[in-house]
Amino acid sequence: MARKKKPGVLRCPTCGALVRIEDEDFPFCTDRCRKIDLGKWAMGAYKISSPVLDPEVLEDLGGAGRPRGSSGSGGGADAN
Ligand SMILES: [Zn+2]
Repeated sequence: MARKKKPGVLRCPTCGALVRIEDEDFPFCTDRCRKIDLGKWAMGAYKISSPVLDPEVLEDLGGAGRPRGSSGSGGGADAN
């Protein structure tokens, strides 16, 4: 229909405060919020890789001890 107006402000992903695009800490309202957000991502990455290394989890997958469906592009068709 009509052209969209570009919003001059967005919300800070961390605290939800309004942030202007021209702000130097955009899209965060402050440098502090930026670091908090980065910290969340770092912690999330650790949480993702942690359970995979857990032997109990691998055992539960089939006892073979190797994860299946992990972007397998190693060898060809191997039997046994
Ligand atoms: Zn904020």
